[in-house]
Amino acid sequence: MEQVDVVVVGAGVVGISTARALAMAGREVLVLDAAEGIGTEISSRNSEVIHAGIYYPRDSLMALLCVAGRRKLYAFCDEHGVAYRRCGKLIVATSEEENDRLDGIKARAEANGVEGMRHLSAAEARALEPNLSCTAALLSPETGILDSHGYMLALQGEAEAHGAMFVFHSPVEGGRATSQGLEIVVGGADPMTLRCRMLVNAAGLQATSLASRIIGMPSQLVPQTYYAKGNYFTLAGRAPFSRLIYPVPVQGGLGVHLTLDLGDQARFGPDVEWIDELDYTVDPRRSDSFYEAIRRYWPALPDGALSPGYAGIRPKITPKGAPAADFVIQPESAHGVTGLVNLFGIESPGLTSAIALADLVAELA
Ligand SMILES: Cc1cc2nc3c(=O)[nH]c(=O)nc-3n(C[C@H](O)[C@H](O)[C@H](O)COP(=O)(O)OP(=O)(O)OC[C@H]3O[C@@H](n4cnc5c(N)ncnc54)[C@H](O)[C@@H]3O)c2cc1C
Repeated sequence: MEQVDVVVVGAGVVGISTARALAMAGREVLVLDAAEGIGTEISSRNSEVIHAGIYYPRDSLMALLCVAGRRKLYAFCDEHGVAYRRCGKLIVATSEEENDRLDGIKARAEANGVEGMRHLSAAEARALEPNLSCTAALLSPETGILDSHGYMLALQGEAEAHGAMFVFHSPVEGGRATSQGLEIVVGGADPMTLRCRMLVNAAGLQATSLASRIIGMPSQLVPQTYYAKGNYFTLAGRAPFSRLIYPVPVQGGLGVHLTLDLGDQARFGPDVEWIDELDYTVDPRRSDSFYEAIRRYWPALPDGALSPGYAGIRPKITPKGAPAADFVIQPESAHGVTGLVNLFGIESPGLTSAIALADLVAELA
């Protein structure tokens, strides 16, 4: 049977970053992905926002890894020539009640170590963004946008430069904990069984189902995944804002916000749609709720300006209505299976957090 030191399942941003961190620490790393290339699932269906780390509960993994990951991400992009823009973001209140919530958001951001958060009056916000309608706002200067595919390619390049190997069309079907290590069963055109000392389960939307197919992994420690789809609509014509514009957050997501890509194309979303099966189609009828939400902060949005864009799916590990869960990193000490690290519920801000999350996994190893 083939033996490898470390197998990482999943070549999304989290698996690639983890492979990089482990390869740079001198480990022999093989990355297996069921798809034809890197980042075909959650990592290519998101907002490409470099989050500052504002909303997450203090000392949660999301807060710690987002803030640390963001700093590492900007440094990595500078070093490797990955395109990004630290464009900043405005969180806008559109009622007196929302004004009061801005103080809490700012206090939480500062407790998380987010730099430079600033309260703006409606007039100050409009001086920055003349098309904006709001009653007050918070400015987050550390928020940015990036070329997420360029980012993943650069991470992959560095992982490969340190010896990591990436193999595609290689679905991992399951595994088994044995006294000699973890045995994993790989399907696809060239099925095989491999043995490894360490297995990192970074399978994104499939991470919990893969964990439940590893014999020896206690089933009561594997959460259920609930799919929360996020639909985007794109805006025809020139972007009306030069910063990202977010409403005050809603339950389950950050509200219908405006993000920009590096080509200055504006898109709105993602909303929150709970679904049972993976399905990436965007129903044009959902635009009604978008027009309503966007016009609260941009009343001049013309009729007919929005077109269905794309959708991404969040791998939630708590159901609709339940409090949001933190990232779950389950090393050997959490479940007793030697060498197995499960990563569950890596939704937003996973893109921003990836390098810091990977460094933590490498430390646990
Ligand atoms: C709508 C939306 C918006 C978001 N916006 C942002 C944002 O602006 N900023 C931010 O920081 N974060 C954002 N996120 C979160 C971020 O995109 C994710 O946290 C991150 O991309 C997760 O990466 P991943 O590697 O865990 O998963 P993925 O990218 O899905 O990678 C998992 C990989 O595992 C492979 N795989 C699955 N099962 C198997 C198997 N059995 N065998 C082999 N391979 C397998 C898949 O093919 C896939 O390539 C957003 C998420 C969503 C859904």
